[in-house]
Amino acid sequence: MKMVILPKESLPEFIGHLCPFGELHVPVKVSEKSYAFGRVNDLSDIELNYTRTILPLKKYVFKPVDVMFNFCAATGYETTVEETDAKRVIFGVHPCDIHGLKILDLVFGGKYVDGYYSARRNKAAIVGMDCIPDEFCFCRSTGTDFVDTGFDLFLSDIGASYLVRVGTSLGDDMIRAADSLLREVQEQDRQAYKRRSTQRRESFQTEVQLQELPEIMDLEYDSEVWRRVGDKCLSCGTCSMVCPTCYCYAVFDELDLAGGSGRRQRRWDSCLFKDYALVAGGHNFRPDRDSRIKNRYFHKQRGFVSQHGRPSCVGCGRCKVYCLVGIDIVEVIKELRSEIRV
Ligand code: SF4
Ligand code: SF4
Repeated sequence: MKMVILPKESLPEFIGHLCPFGELHVPVKVSEKSYAFGRVNDLSDIELNYTRTILPLKKYVFKPVDVMFNFCAATGYETTVEETDAKRVIFGVHPCDIHGLKILDLVFGGKYVDGYYSARRNKAAIVGMDCIPDEFCFCRSTGTDFVDTGFDLFLSDIGASYLVRVGTSLGDDMIRAADSLLREVQEQDRQAYKRRSTQRRESFQTEVQLQELPEIMDLEYDSEVWRRVGDKCLSCGTCSMVCPTCYCYAVFDELDLAGGSGRRQRRWDSCLFKDYALVAGGHNFRPDRDSRIKNRYFHKQRGFVSQHGRPSCVGCGRCKVYCLVGIDIVEVIKELRSEIRV
Protein backbone atom coordinates (compact mmCIF):
# COMPACT_ATOMS: atom_id res chain seq x y z
CA MET A 1 0.00 0.00 0.00
CA LYS A 2 1.33 3.43 -0.93
CA MET A 3 2.28 5.59 2.06
CA VAL A 4 3.48 9.17 2.39
CA ILE A 5 4.26 11.55 5.25
CA LEU A 6 2.32 14.72 5.98
CA PRO A 7 3.90 17.13 8.52
CA LYS A 8 1.29 18.22 11.09
CA GLU A 9 1.77 21.91 10.43
CA SER A 10 0.61 21.28 6.83
CA LEU A 11 -2.66 19.64 7.81
CA PRO A 12 -4.89 22.73 7.32
CA GLU A 13 -3.43 23.31 3.88
CA PHE A 14 -3.79 19.59 3.07
CA ILE A 15 -7.48 19.70 4.06
CA GLY A 16 -7.89 22.70 1.80
CA HIS A 17 -6.60 20.58 -1.10
CA LEU A 18 -9.38 18.03 -0.39
CA CYS A 19 -12.18 20.55 -0.98
CA PRO A 20 -12.27 20.23 -4.80
CA PHE A 21 -13.06 16.51 -4.32
CA GLY A 22 -16.37 17.23 -2.59
CA GLU A 23 -18.18 19.01 0.19
CA LEU A 24 -16.00 18.68 3.28
CA HIS A 25 -17.55 17.12 6.40
CA VAL A 26 -15.50 16.88 9.57
CA PRO A 27 -15.87 16.03 13.27
CA VAL A 28 -16.95 19.06 15.33
CA LYS A 29 -17.79 19.56 18.98
CA VAL A 30 -21.51 20.09 19.64
CA SER A 31 -21.50 20.11 23.46
CA GLU A 32 -19.12 19.45 26.34
CA LYS A 33 -18.68 15.75 25.52
CA SER A 34 -20.54 15.32 22.22
CA TYR A 35 -19.36 15.42 18.66
CA ALA A 36 -20.95 15.24 15.22
CA PHE A 37 -19.85 15.14 11.61
CA GLY A 38 -20.76 18.38 9.89
CA ARG A 39 -19.56 21.30 7.80
CA VAL A 40 -17.34 24.10 9.10
CA ASN A 41 -16.55 27.60 7.90
CA ASP A 42 -13.31 27.68 9.83
CA LEU A 43 -10.90 24.73 9.72
CA SER A 44 -9.83 25.45 13.30
CA ASP A 45 -13.28 24.17 14.37
CA ILE A 46 -12.30 20.62 13.36
CA GLU A 47 -12.09 18.46 16.48
CA LEU A 48 -9.32 15.98 15.72
CA ASN A 49 -9.29 14.46 19.21
CA TYR A 50 -12.94 13.50 19.29
CA THR A 51 -13.97 10.22 20.86
CA ARG A 52 -17.05 9.27 18.83
CA THR A 53 -19.75 11.25 17.05
CA ILE A 54 -23.36 10.90 18.26
CA LEU A 55 -24.52 9.59 14.87
CA PRO A 56 -22.21 7.49 12.71
CA LEU A 57 -21.63 7.82 8.98
CA LYS A 58 -24.88 6.07 8.11
CA LYS A 59 -26.61 9.44 8.39
CA TYR A 60 -24.98 10.36 5.06
CA VAL A 61 -25.59 7.20 3.06
CA PHE A 62 -28.77 5.87 4.69
CA LYS A 63 -30.55 9.01 5.79
CA PRO A 64 -32.77 9.14 8.90
CA VAL A 65 -35.71 10.12 6.66
CA ASP A 66 -35.42 9.66 2.92
CA VAL A 67 -37.84 10.29 0.03
CA MET A 68 -37.96 7.16 -2.15
CA PHE A 69 -40.20 8.56 -4.87
CA ASN A 70 -42.84 11.21 -5.50
CA PHE A 71 -46.27 10.33 -6.88
CA CYS A 72 -48.96 12.37 -8.52
CA ALA A 73 -52.36 11.28 -9.85
CA ALA A 74 -51.82 13.34 -13.00
CA THR A 75 -48.19 12.53 -13.85
CA GLY A 76 -47.44 9.20 -12.14
CA TYR A 77 -44.26 8.21 -10.28
CA GLU A 78 -40.96 10.01 -10.20
CA THR A 79 -37.97 8.34 -8.58
CA THR A 80 -35.55 10.36 -6.47
CA VAL A 81 -32.54 8.02 -6.74
CA GLU A 82 -30.68 10.37 -9.06
CA GLU A 83 -31.38 13.38 -6.89
CA THR A 84 -28.89 12.40 -4.24
CA ASP A 85 -26.63 14.86 -2.52
CA ALA A 86 -23.42 16.34 -3.81
CA LYS A 87 -20.05 14.57 -3.61
CA ARG A 88 -18.69 14.57 -0.09
CA VAL A 89 -15.30 14.14 1.52
CA ILE A 90 -15.81 12.88 5.06
CA PHE A 91 -12.64 13.61 6.98
CA GLY A 92 -11.41 12.12 10.27
CA VAL A 93 -13.37 8.86 10.31
CA HIS A 94 -12.26 6.34 12.94
CA PRO A 95 -11.54 2.69 12.05
CA CYS A 96 -14.68 1.32 13.77
CA ASP A 97 -16.90 3.65 11.74
CA ILE A 98 -15.18 2.63 8.52
CA HIS A 99 -15.96 -0.98 9.45
CA GLY A 100 -19.53 0.11 10.16
CA LEU A 101 -19.78 1.44 6.63
CA LYS A 102 -18.32 -1.78 5.23
CA ILE A 103 -21.06 -3.71 7.03
CA LEU A 104 -23.73 -1.44 5.54
CA ASP A 105 -22.11 -2.08 2.15
CA LEU A 106 -22.69 -5.80 2.67
CA VAL A 107 -26.35 -5.20 3.47
CA PHE A 108 -27.27 -2.53 0.93
CA GLY A 109 -24.78 -3.41 -1.79
CA GLY A 110 -24.95 -7.20 -1.71
CA LYS A 111 -27.29 -9.48 -3.62
CA TYR A 112 -30.02 -6.84 -3.72
CA VAL A 113 -28.53 -3.43 -4.36
CA ASP A 114 -30.27 -0.51 -2.69
CA GLY A 115 -30.14 2.30 -5.24
CA TYR A 116 -30.70 5.07 -2.70
CA TYR A 117 -27.79 3.86 -0.56
CA SER A 118 -25.36 3.12 -3.39
CA ALA A 119 -25.99 6.47 -5.14
CA ARG A 120 -24.85 8.28 -1.99
CA ARG A 121 -22.13 5.79 -1.09
CA ASN A 122 -20.49 6.20 -4.48
CA LYS A 123 -20.27 9.93 -3.87
CA ALA A 124 -18.68 9.68 -0.42
CA ALA A 125 -14.90 9.81 -0.13
CA ILE A 126 -13.57 8.60 3.22
CA VAL A 127 -10.46 10.03 4.85
CA GLY A 128 -9.83 8.00 7.99
CA MET A 129 -7.87 8.93 11.06
CA ASP A 130 -6.66 6.83 13.97
CA CYS A 131 -7.73 7.47 17.56
CA ILE A 132 -6.93 6.61 21.15
CA PRO A 133 -9.71 4.49 22.72
CA ASP A 134 -11.69 5.59 25.75
CA GLU A 135 -13.32 3.36 28.37
CA PHE A 136 -16.33 2.63 26.10
CA CYS A 137 -14.38 1.39 23.06
CA PHE A 138 -14.01 -2.35 22.59
CA CYS A 139 -13.16 -2.41 18.88
CA ARG A 140 -9.99 -4.37 19.62
CA SER A 141 -12.21 -7.26 20.77
CA THR A 142 -14.36 -7.03 17.63
CA GLY A 143 -11.28 -6.85 15.38
CA THR A 144 -12.30 -3.44 14.05
CA ASP A 145 -9.58 -1.28 15.59
CA PHE A 146 -7.60 -1.33 12.36
CA VAL A 147 -8.63 -0.95 8.71
CA ASP A 148 -6.80 -1.91 5.56
CA THR A 149 -9.65 -1.21 3.13
CA GLY A 150 -12.76 0.98 3.06
CA PHE A 151 -10.99 4.36 2.95
CA ASP A 152 -9.51 6.59 0.29
CA LEU A 153 -6.87 7.95 2.64
CA PHE A 154 -6.05 7.06 6.23
CA LEU A 155 -3.97 9.27 8.54
CA SER A 156 -2.09 7.89 11.53
CA ASP A 157 -0.57 10.26 14.08
CA ILE A 158 3.16 9.50 14.42
CA GLY A 159 4.21 12.51 16.49
CA ALA A 160 5.23 15.52 14.44
CA SER A 161 3.64 14.07 11.28
CA TYR A 162 0.89 11.84 9.94
CA LEU A 163 1.65 8.65 8.08
CA VAL A 164 -0.89 8.69 5.23
CA ARG A 165 -1.99 5.38 3.70
CA VAL A 166 -3.53 5.55 0.23
CA GLY A 167 -6.44 3.14 -0.20
CA THR A 168 -7.91 3.95 -3.64
CA SER A 169 -7.15 5.69 -6.91
CA LEU A 170 -9.27 8.60 -5.67
CA GLY A 171 -7.02 8.77 -2.62
CA ASP A 172 -4.03 8.80 -4.97
CA ASP A 173 -5.55 11.76 -6.84
CA MET A 174 -5.95 13.52 -3.50
CA ILE A 175 -2.32 13.17 -2.49
CA ARG A 176 -1.19 14.18 -5.97
CA ALA A 177 -3.18 17.38 -5.53
CA ALA A 178 -1.27 18.04 -2.29
CA ASP A 179 2.06 16.73 -3.52
CA SER A 180 4.12 19.74 -2.40
CA LEU A 181 3.10 19.14 1.25
CA LEU A 182 4.13 15.49 1.38
CA ARG A 183 7.39 13.59 1.58
CA GLU A 184 8.50 9.97 1.32
CA VAL A 185 8.37 7.61 4.31
CA GLN A 186 11.72 7.16 6.06
CA GLU A 187 12.94 4.57 8.56
CA GLN A 188 12.31 6.88 11.53
CA ASP A 189 8.66 7.25 10.39
CA ARG A 190 8.23 3.47 10.29
CA GLN A 191 9.60 3.20 13.82
CA ALA A 192 7.32 6.00 15.02
CA TYR A 193 4.33 4.27 13.40
CA LYS A 194 5.15 1.01 15.19
CA ARG A 195 5.46 2.84 18.52
CA ARG A 196 2.13 4.56 17.95
CA SER A 197 0.45 1.23 17.09
CA THR A 198 1.78 -0.32 20.30
CA GLN A 199 0.68 2.67 22.38
CA ARG A 200 -2.80 2.47 20.85
CA ARG A 201 -3.06 -1.28 21.44
CA GLU A 202 -2.06 -0.83 25.07
CA SER A 203 -4.62 1.94 25.61
CA PHE A 204 -7.67 -0.32 25.45
CA GLN A 205 -9.44 -0.42 28.79
CA THR A 206 -12.37 -2.62 27.77
CA GLU A 207 -12.17 -6.08 26.32
CA VAL A 208 -14.65 -8.88 25.84
CA GLN A 209 -14.13 -12.37 24.51
CA LEU A 210 -16.25 -12.98 21.41
CA GLN A 211 -15.02 -16.44 20.45
CA GLU A 212 -17.84 -19.01 20.20
CA LEU A 213 -20.38 -16.32 21.04
CA PRO A 214 -22.94 -17.49 18.43
CA GLU A 215 -22.99 -20.95 20.03
CA ILE A 216 -23.11 -19.48 23.53
CA MET A 217 -26.10 -17.38 22.52
CA ASP A 218 -27.90 -20.44 21.21
CA LEU A 219 -27.25 -22.22 24.49
CA GLU A 220 -28.37 -19.18 26.49
CA TYR A 221 -31.50 -18.52 24.47
CA ASP A 222 -33.69 -18.82 27.59
CA SER A 223 -31.19 -17.22 29.97
CA GLU A 224 -32.33 -15.06 32.88
CA VAL A 225 -29.95 -12.41 31.49
CA TRP A 226 -32.57 -11.43 28.89
CA ARG A 227 -35.21 -10.91 31.56
CA ARG A 228 -32.87 -8.78 33.67
CA VAL A 229 -31.86 -6.61 30.71
CA GLY A 230 -35.45 -6.45 29.43
CA ASP A 231 -36.62 -5.23 32.85
CA LYS A 232 -34.32 -2.21 32.53
CA CYS A 233 -34.82 -1.41 28.83
CA LEU A 234 -37.15 1.51 28.01
CA SER A 235 -37.71 0.43 24.37
CA CYS A 236 -36.63 3.93 23.35
CA GLY A 237 -34.65 2.71 20.32
CA THR A 238 -31.73 5.08 20.96
CA CYS A 239 -29.24 2.23 20.70
CA SER A 240 -30.44 1.44 17.18
CA MET A 241 -30.38 5.06 16.05
CA VAL A 242 -26.77 5.65 17.13
CA CYS A 243 -25.47 2.25 15.99
CA PRO A 244 -23.33 2.39 12.83
CA THR A 245 -24.65 -0.99 11.69
CA CYS A 246 -28.38 -0.92 12.53
CA TYR A 247 -30.19 -0.58 9.23
CA CYS A 248 -33.89 -1.31 9.77
CA TYR A 249 -36.31 1.15 8.25
CA ALA A 250 -40.07 1.66 7.97
CA VAL A 251 -41.79 2.79 4.78
CA PHE A 252 -44.71 5.22 4.82
CA ASP A 253 -46.60 7.48 2.41
CA GLU A 254 -47.08 11.16 3.01
CA LEU A 255 -50.02 12.66 1.11
CA ASP A 256 -50.30 16.33 0.27
CA LEU A 257 -53.43 18.00 1.65
CA ALA A 258 -55.25 17.98 -1.70
CA GLY A 259 -54.74 14.20 -1.83
CA GLY A 260 -53.65 13.97 -5.47
CA SER A 261 -49.92 13.79 -4.84
CA GLY A 262 -47.38 12.89 -2.21
CA ARG A 263 -44.20 11.00 -1.56
CA ARG A 264 -43.14 7.60 -0.30
CA GLN A 265 -40.52 7.86 2.41
CA ARG A 266 -38.50 5.61 4.61
CA ARG A 267 -37.21 6.37 8.06
CA TRP A 268 -34.95 4.63 10.55
CA ASP A 269 -36.78 2.05 12.61
CA SER A 270 -35.76 0.00 15.65
CA CYS A 271 -36.48 -3.58 16.63
CA LEU A 272 -36.67 -2.26 20.20
CA PHE A 273 -39.88 -0.35 19.45
CA LYS A 274 -43.01 -1.98 20.81
CA ASP A 275 -44.85 -2.08 17.48
CA TYR A 276 -41.86 -3.20 15.38
CA ALA A 277 -43.11 -6.79 15.17
CA LEU A 278 -46.79 -5.94 15.06
CA VAL A 279 -48.41 -7.63 12.07
CA ALA A 280 -51.81 -7.58 10.38
CA GLY A 281 -54.53 -8.90 12.63
CA GLY A 282 -52.98 -7.27 15.69
CA HIS A 283 -50.52 -10.04 16.61
CA ASN A 284 -47.16 -8.93 17.96
CA PHE A 285 -44.59 -11.69 17.85
CA ARG A 286 -42.13 -9.79 20.11
CA PRO A 287 -44.54 -8.17 22.57
CA ASP A 288 -42.22 -7.86 25.56
CA ARG A 289 -38.97 -5.98 26.11
CA ASP A 290 -36.98 -9.15 26.92
CA SER A 291 -37.71 -10.63 23.51
CA ARG A 292 -37.01 -7.39 21.69
CA ILE A 293 -33.63 -6.76 23.26
CA LYS A 294 -32.72 -10.41 22.84
CA ASN A 295 -33.59 -10.07 19.17
CA ARG A 296 -31.20 -7.12 18.78
CA TYR A 297 -28.31 -9.04 20.34
CA PHE A 298 -29.12 -12.18 18.36
CA HIS A 299 -29.26 -10.33 15.11
CA LYS A 300 -25.88 -8.67 15.65
CA GLN A 301 -23.94 -11.53 17.24
CA ARG A 302 -25.70 -14.58 15.83
CA GLY A 303 -27.82 -13.99 12.71
CA PHE A 304 -25.34 -11.69 10.97
CA VAL A 305 -22.54 -14.20 11.57
CA SER A 306 -24.61 -16.94 9.88
CA GLN A 307 -25.35 -14.69 6.95
CA HIS A 308 -22.11 -12.77 6.46
CA GLY A 309 -19.49 -14.63 8.49
CA ARG A 310 -18.92 -11.79 10.97
CA PRO A 311 -20.88 -10.08 13.74
CA SER A 312 -22.40 -6.71 12.92
CA CYS A 313 -21.05 -4.97 16.00
CA VAL A 314 -17.91 -2.85 15.54
CA GLY A 315 -17.28 -2.10 19.21
CA CYS A 316 -17.82 1.66 18.96
CA GLY A 317 -19.49 1.83 22.39
CA ARG A 318 -22.26 4.22 21.29
CA CYS A 319 -25.11 2.00 22.50
CA LYS A 320 -23.67 2.07 26.00
CA VAL A 321 -22.79 5.76 26.03
CA TYR A 322 -26.26 6.84 24.92
CA CYS A 323 -28.48 4.24 26.61
CA LEU A 324 -30.60 6.16 29.13
CA VAL A 325 -30.50 3.31 31.63
CA GLY A 326 -26.88 2.31 31.11
CA ILE A 327 -27.36 -1.08 29.44
CA ASP A 328 -23.84 -2.14 28.56
CA ILE A 329 -23.37 -4.53 25.65
CA VAL A 330 -20.00 -5.69 27.02
CA GLU A 331 -21.50 -6.56 30.41
CA VAL A 332 -24.43 -8.39 28.77
CA ILE A 333 -22.04 -10.53 26.73
CA LYS A 334 -19.88 -11.21 29.79
CA GLU A 335 -22.96 -12.24 31.77
CA LEU A 336 -24.04 -14.62 29.02
CA ARG A 337 -20.59 -16.16 28.93
CA SER A 338 -20.39 -16.54 32.69
CA GLU A 339 -23.65 -18.48 32.69
CA ILE A 340 -21.89 -21.34 30.98
CA ARG A 341 -18.45 -20.54 32.47
CA VAL A 342 -16.50 -20.23 29.23
S1 SF4 B 1 -31.01 2.66 24.40
FE1 SF4 B 1 -31.13 1.35 26.22
S2 SF4 B 1 -33.20 1.70 27.02
FE2 SF4 B 1 -33.20 2.47 24.91
S3 SF4 B 1 -33.92 0.70 23.69
FE3 SF4 B 1 -31.67 0.61 23.70
S4 SF4 B 1 -31.16 -0.76 25.42
FE4 SF4 B 1 -33.32 -0.11 25.70
S1 SF4 C 1 -24.01 -2.64 18.95
FE1 SF4 C 1 -23.27 -0.87 20.16
S2 SF4 C 1 -21.04 -1.11 20.26
FE2 SF4 C 1 -21.79 -2.47 18.63
S3 SF4 C 1 -21.62 -1.24 16.76
FE3 SF4 C 1 -23.72 -0.93 17.51
S4 SF4 C 1 -23.60 0.91 18.82
FE4 SF4 C 1 -21.48 0.21 18.47
